[in-house]
Amino acid sequence: MILKYDVIVIGAGHAGCEAAAAAARLGVHTCLVTMDMNKIAQMSCNPAVGGIAKGQIVREIDALGGRMGIVTDRTAIQFRMLNRSKGPAMWSPRAQCDRERFIWEWRHQLDTTPGLDIWQDQVMELLTEAQENTTLTDGPKRRVTGVRTLWGVDIMAPAVIITAGTFLNGMLHIGRKMLPGGRIAEPAALRLTESVNALGIRSDRMKTGTPVRIDARSVDFGKMELQQGDPVTHLFSYMHGTESIDSQYLADPELFSRDCYASPRRPRTEDFLPCWTTQTNSECHDVLRSGLKDSPLFNGQIQSIGPRYCPSVETKLVTFADKDSHPLFLEPEGTDTNEMYLNGFSSSMPMEIQIEALRKIPAFKELRVYRPGYAIEYDFFDPTQLHHSLESRLCSGLFFAGQVNGTTGYEEAAGQGLVAGVNAAISAGHHATGTDLSTAAAARPLVLGRDEAYIGVLIDDLVMKGVDEPYRMFTSRAEYRILLRQDDADRRLTPIGHSIGLATTSRLDIWKRKEKAIDDLHALLRSTTMKQDEINPYLDEIGSTRVNRSVHLDELLTRPGVTLAGLQELRPELRADDEVTEATEILIKYDGYIRREREYADKMHRLEDIKIDGHFDYNSIQSLSTEARQKLTARRPETLAHASRIPGISPSDINVLLVLLGR
Ligand SMILES: Cc1cc2nc3c(=O)[nH]c(=O)nc-3n(C[C@H](O)[C@H](O)[C@H](O)COP(=O)(O)OP(=O)(O)OC[C@H]3O[C@@H](n4cnc5c(N)ncnc54)[C@H](O)[C@@H]3O)c2cc1C
Repeated sequence: MILKYDVIVIGAGHAGCEAAAAAARLGVHTCLVTMDMNKIAQMSCNPAVGGIAKGQIVREIDALGGRMGIVTDRTAIQFRMLNRSKGPAMWSPRAQCDRERFIWEWRHQLDTTPGLDIWQDQVMELLTEAQENTTLTDGPKRRVTGVRTLWGVDIMAPAVIITAGTFLNGMLHIGRKMLPGGRIAEPAALRLTESVNALGIRSDRMKTGTPVRIDARSVDFGKMELQQGDPVTHLFSYMHGTESIDSQYLADPELFSRDCYASPRRPRTEDFLPCWTTQTNSECHDVLRSGLKDSPLFNGQIQSIGPRYCPSVETKLVTFADKDSHPLFLEPEGTDTNEMYLNGFSSSMPMEIQIEALRKIPAFKELRVYRPGYAIEYDFFDPTQLHHSLESRLCSGLFFAGQVNGTTGYEEAAGQGLVAGVNAAISAGHHATGTDLSTAAAARPLVLGRDEAYIGVLIDDLVMKGVDEPYRMFTSRAEYRILLRQDDADRRLTPIGHSIGLATTSRLDIWKRKEKAIDDLHALLRSTTMKQDEINPYLDEIGSTRVNRSVHLDELLTRPGVTLAGLQELRPELRADDEVTEATEILIKYDGYIRREREYADKMHRLEDIKIDGHFDYNSIQSLSTEARQKLTARRPETLAHASRIPGISPSDINVLLVLLGR
């Protein structure tokens, strides 16, 4: 059988779902091929979305018109804003989700997207042809024409996106037992890597792992600490954050595609569930130590590199040998299940060791589990062989997104998926009109800057620096953190999303109304003064120095401890929607930092080619990291742009050099 489409997406994980939804919504006929339709957007590990820096990515996806934020809001069973004690650049929303509902909400999103078909099958092979009409001497010599599946179907399209996650030649490990698989109880995808390698695209191996799933009925919750979520003031989608919704928006499926809301702006809250915490102890560690000889991480069975920031419990035991306890978080997997996820206990130890070790913890004395933790090794492709559009440099029309590019995490995958989906649609669109794809697609792809989005930082890091371990996003990877806050992804990206046709007009209108509300509130704060008699009781209450004259409220707000919510109590005319209040307060309080980073960003744009060779004795610059001093001394880059592309040279090292250059 032969099927014809404009865009094919291989794999319905977090990257594939965003990619397929984005491509189809841009009007190209899209086929999402996946191995199991009942596991669409399956959360392979923790059923949680967001977290530090990842929460910002989800808001960026939403601001651009993607789907992950909406799906998360609709299926969350707990929300928290992490890093509240730090500055707003660090605030990161996180939600615990109902795993099954997450899958079905994504199914619903895809099933109701016009122009998008789902085909359940396994892609075995890429179909390609020699590139014709290329004007580039060193450009791709081949272009993709489609895929061939396990059931012998040829699906033809001028653009193909590979989002196969951890499935490519996947190998599962539990103790000394090894089984081929893409995830527990799912087959590995064979032959596709080899088909990609045949195009000259390099692959390598990485590893990740997941903890045991616990039966809640066997847990003594009285011996654990309760961890409640926050009251729901923050959701991921900006479509829920407006004060009122006009009837003109009622037809927008982003707002009203489901009737599961008590109110259109709020997710259900009646199902919200708490998490629980406890810790490992020395008895538990003794049991784990007794199993180290059979641990695939330590007996040579696993050779590939795993996520450094998400270590297994046995790695923690060996790395931090002096510690006799590590924190554990027991998190619900959903509202209709007894299954719970034990965060902090990722392991590939033999299953009896995992269970016996846990039974040494008071809350788990009677423990029963649904399945043990396990590790998986899988293939990924070298992302330095990609353009920033996520299109291959070696094969036109072939795009890569998600874990196959060496990243880890649902949010990182989804962000790449959206970019690849948009760019594949553009590429296919050019092809359909007969334009030379290799030049036309490269001319106007969606590429986000490092000062525009964490998604831009992520893709730039992948393409320019490559990966030698699973890449996870952190706020420290972004040199312009204060410009990339979770509160203002709509400011940064909704106009871009609308201009490419992904963000709906109602989304843009909602952003414009919010922008006006912020501007109005800002102006009101600038023009309003308060007399000392009125403000001093509040300043006394928060322990701030009294004033002896009338003060402008915007000036007052720059003081530590003074909040806009506090001023709104005194002056009801300042009251506004929660998100408007938060955004306005941040803009005023952090005005100096925001301006400074904007200036740095603009300088970086202008100074990309500044010559630095022979300028510095790097070893004497203490403010550079040790790694930067060594690598800059060894490599002697000619320009700042070259320096910034050396792996191990961080954006803050570049900022140090900029400052020393007096720029
Ligand atoms: C055991 C385990 C533990 C993990 N632990 C963590 C963690 O601690 N922290 C973290 O951030 N991330 C973790 N992850 C990674 C996280 O699951 C991924 O980063 C994320 O799911 C990647 O999304 P993706 O869309 O790239 O791929 P996936 O979510 O893996 O989706 C891939 C999809 O492609 C389909 N597919 C694959 N090959 C084919 C083919 N040939 N034809 C058709 N369909 C195909 C699959 O069926 C699947 O639907 C873990 C993953 C696993 C498996």
